[in-house]
Amino acid sequence: MKQNPTRTCAVLVDLPDIVVLRADRDGPMLQVHVETGATSAGCPDCGVVAQVKERVVVKYCDLPVYGVASTLFWHKRRWRCSDRDCSKKTWTEEDRRIAAPRMAITDRAGRWATRAVGEAGRSVNDVAGTLGCDWHTVNDAVLAYGTALIEHPERFGTVTALGLDETGFVRLAPYYRTSFITSIVDVGQGQLLDIVEGRGGQGSKEWLKNRDPAWKAAITHGTLDLSSAYKAVFTAELPDATLVADPFHVVKLATSKLDETRRRVQNETLGHRGHKDDPLYRCRRLLTKAEERLSEDGRSKLLNLLEAGDPKGDVATAWHAKEAVRELYSHQDQELAITWLDELAADLSDKIRPPEVRSLGRTLKRWRLEITAWHACHFTNGPTEAMNNLIKRIKRVAFGFTSFRNYRTRSLLYAGKPNWSLLETIRPR
Ligand SMILES: [Zn+2]
Repeated sequence: MKQNPTRTCAVLVDLPDIVVLRADRDGPMLQVHVETGATSAGCPDCGVVAQVKERVVVKYCDLPVYGVASTLFWHKRRWRCSDRDCSKKTWTEEDRRIAAPRMAITDRAGRWATRAVGEAGRSVNDVAGTLGCDWHTVNDAVLAYGTALIEHPERFGTVTALGLDETGFVRLAPYYRTSFITSIVDVGQGQLLDIVEGRGGQGSKEWLKNRDPAWKAAITHGTLDLSSAYKAVFTAELPDATLVADPFHVVKLATSKLDETRRRVQNETLGHRGHKDDPLYRCRRLLTKAEERLSEDGRSKLLNLLEAGDPKGDVATAWHAKEAVRELYSHQDQELAITWLDELAADLSDKIRPPEVRSLGRTLKRWRLEITAWHACHFTNGPTEAMNNLIKRIKRVAFGFTSFRNYRTRSLLYAGKPNWSLLETIRPR
C-alpha cells in the first residue's frame, strides 16, 4: 500500500501537530516546509475567534537527517482578532515544543547543541558546522538551555570545604578587555561552583553574601593562596571556617623567592641579566627541581655552579629555604609542623639572611596558622587547579570569549557538574 509522500516526510520530521508542506534539497542542505495543524485560534486577550491575517515564514536550524544538515521553514500564521475594539490586534503563532520564542534553532536541535558544547566540550563553531547554521544560533541556544541547567537550584548541595582561586586573566572580545576571574570551588568534591568577575576578593565576597546562611554554616574549611584579599573575604563571610593555605602556593612562593635571589646576585656579580654561559643562569633549572629528584651528577653540577656564581652564598641560602619549606609537608603531625615552621620562619627572618629570604620568613610567620592548618585536614586547592585546567581547555577550544556570560556558562557546563538528565525537561531561559 502506497503512503502519501508528505505523510512519510511528516513521520521523519516527527514534530507535534505539524503538517509537512514540501521538502527540497538546496545543495548540501535539506529544506523542509511545514505548518501547524492549528486551523483556528481564540484571541488571548478577549477570547473572540481570530482570523488568519497573513503567513510569515520563519527559518529554523534543525537536527541533521541521514547526515544531511536540515532547515525547517515554518509557515507561521499571523492571527488577527475579529473584534475591532480589542487592543490585541495581531499575533504570530508560537509552539515551544517546536522552538522556543526568539530562537533560530528548533527545540530539539538547541538541546542537542547544548550537550555537544557543554558536556562533550566541542567548540560552538564546530557544532555550528555540523548543523549548517551560524555561530550565534548555536551560542544563543547554549546560553538559553545552559543557563537553565547551571542555575538549577540543586546543581550543588552541601559544601564543607570551599576554595577561592584566581584563574588569572581572561581576555574577552571584542575589545580584549582583561578580566580578573575568581573560581569558587567545592574542594572536597572537586566541583566548580561558580566563576565571578572582579578584582581581588570583591566578586567572591558578593557571591558569598548572597548565599543562604544555613548553606554557609556547613562550610568548615576555606582554602586559599597566600592572598590577603581572599583571607578578608573568608573572615567577613565565613568567620567560623578554618583557613588553609594551599601547599602548592606556599612552595611556589619559596621558589619565586629563590628565583628573585638568583636574578639579583647575577646582576650584582656580572652586571647584566642571565646569559646562557653564566653559572647562575645555567643552574636555574637544577635550583627549582626538588632536591630528592636531583641525580648525583646534577647535584655536583649545582654545587660547582653555585661555587662559581654565588660568592656570598645568597642563592644557596634561598635554595635551602625552598627545600626546608617543601620539607614542611613531609611532617604528618600538626604540633610538630607548627614547631618546625616557627623555627624556620625565625631563622629565615634573621638579619644575616638575604632580603628575599627574610621576606619569605616574614610571610611564613604571618601565615603560620593557615599553613599548618593543612596538616590537620589535608584540604588543598588541588582540585581547583584541575578545574583551571578544564577552563584553560575550553578557552583554547573557543579561541577567546566574546563575553563573561559565555565564559561562565561554558565553564560551569563543563566543570560545574550540571545534572544532564534534566536537559530534556528544563525550560530555556
Ligand atoms: Zn481580542
